[in-house]
Amino acid sequence: MINRDEFISDEDWREFLAFSKDLETPYVVINPKTIELNYQRLRGFFPYSEIFYAVKANPAPEIISLLAGMGSNFDLASRPELDMVLSLGIQAERLSYGNTIKKAGDVAYFYEKGVRMFATDSKEDLRNIASAAPGSQIYVRILVENSTTADWPLSRKFGCHPDMAYDLIIMARDRGLVPLGISFHVGSQQRDIGQWDDAIAKTKYLFSCLEEYEGIRLSMINLGGGFPTAYIQPTNTLSEYAAEIKRYLVDDFGEDLPRIILEPGRSLVGNSGILASEVVLVSRKNNTALNRWVYLDTGKFNGLLETIDEAIKYPIVTSKDVPGGKEAEVILAGPTCDGQDILYERYKYRLPVDLKIGDRLYFLSTGAYTSSYASVGFNGFAPIKTCIMPLKE
Ligand SMILES: *Cc1c(COP(=O)(O)O)cnc(C)c1O
Repeated sequence: MINRDEFISDEDWREFLAFSKDLETPYVVINPKTIELNYQRLRGFFPYSEIFYAVKANPAPEIISLLAGMGSNFDLASRPELDMVLSLGIQAERLSYGNTIKKAGDVAYFYEKGVRMFATDSKEDLRNIASAAPGSQIYVRILVENSTTADWPLSRKFGCHPDMAYDLIIMARDRGLVPLGISFHVGSQQRDIGQWDDAIAKTKYLFSCLEEYEGIRLSMINLGGGFPTAYIQPTNTLSEYAAEIKRYLVDDFGEDLPRIILEPGRSLVGNSGILASEVVLVSRKNNTALNRWVYLDTGKFNGLLETIDEAIKYPIVTSKDVPGGKEAEVILAGPTCDGQDILYERYKYRLPVDLKIGDRLYFLSTGAYTSSYASVGFNGFAPIKTCIMPLKE
């Protein structure tokens, strides 16, 4: 049994239970008050930065509107994300197109809708941007290594070597674009704050060389996402992240910082969500097997994709939890007819021995990368629904 108090206040827990008591599982309930607090805290810790919420973490329109009302900007990855954000009345000046993998037609669409800020990491993409989005602002994403200390790494696929970033910035200028700066993403749920140190040092090197040899003055650093939310595996506090990152920035750039952008996803919405599921079956594979298999009505295909390789270990609460109650190890699995739909097998959750069919499991900190990752209906299981609690003053 986890210590629920470490993850959610008693009051928020009671409000969640009252709000959700008649909902049919599985579902994710979002508490917008938590997102509001997360946003204010991030603002407080990084007062010198602009926030571009990474919409993919949780694209619920209520969340986008809430963050827009608090002053957030938005980082987008596709046309449907752009259409959704624009339909909420958010202006194109507050948007960036951060996906480095895009079709020329997508670039043209964003440009036509008024977006003028584009990420890139390749010559081919930059050529497309130069022709389909003339005169736009460009930032180049550099490659950073983050495979061992980030719980959900984003390495290899995105970004380019700093030498290539150098060439891309020059090419951007030569093709009539505005070279804005450098971006990176140190990996999601990054537990090693030092990863920002390396990335900022590479960025500084690029700023200096480009100014010295090309006369190009970059003006912006995009520090990406990677800031933590609360799962079982502990992290430093956000205030420790902020203090260290500020120190790295000042060490490299002095007190007069360039424009700084953050692109948080997980850290803004992760702990705002609770995913509720029901036990479909509890069984053993033979009469003397020590471990029970607990099958749920949620799995990898309808909400819990980030259990791939058991990467994200959510805090789990059950409707049978009692202090001092007897518990034993279980293997947790989802409801579909797919062998991959096992949630946790190597990592052994201990759950009450009297857990039965129909009992509930609550996965805490499931506000990010759950509903937006659900398949459209594998095996007929619908994508998990999101319910937003009313925002009280
Ligand atoms: C997914 C993503 C983010 C958000 O990352 P988190 O670790 O969830 O904060 C930010 N920037 C880009 C470009 C992304 O793809």
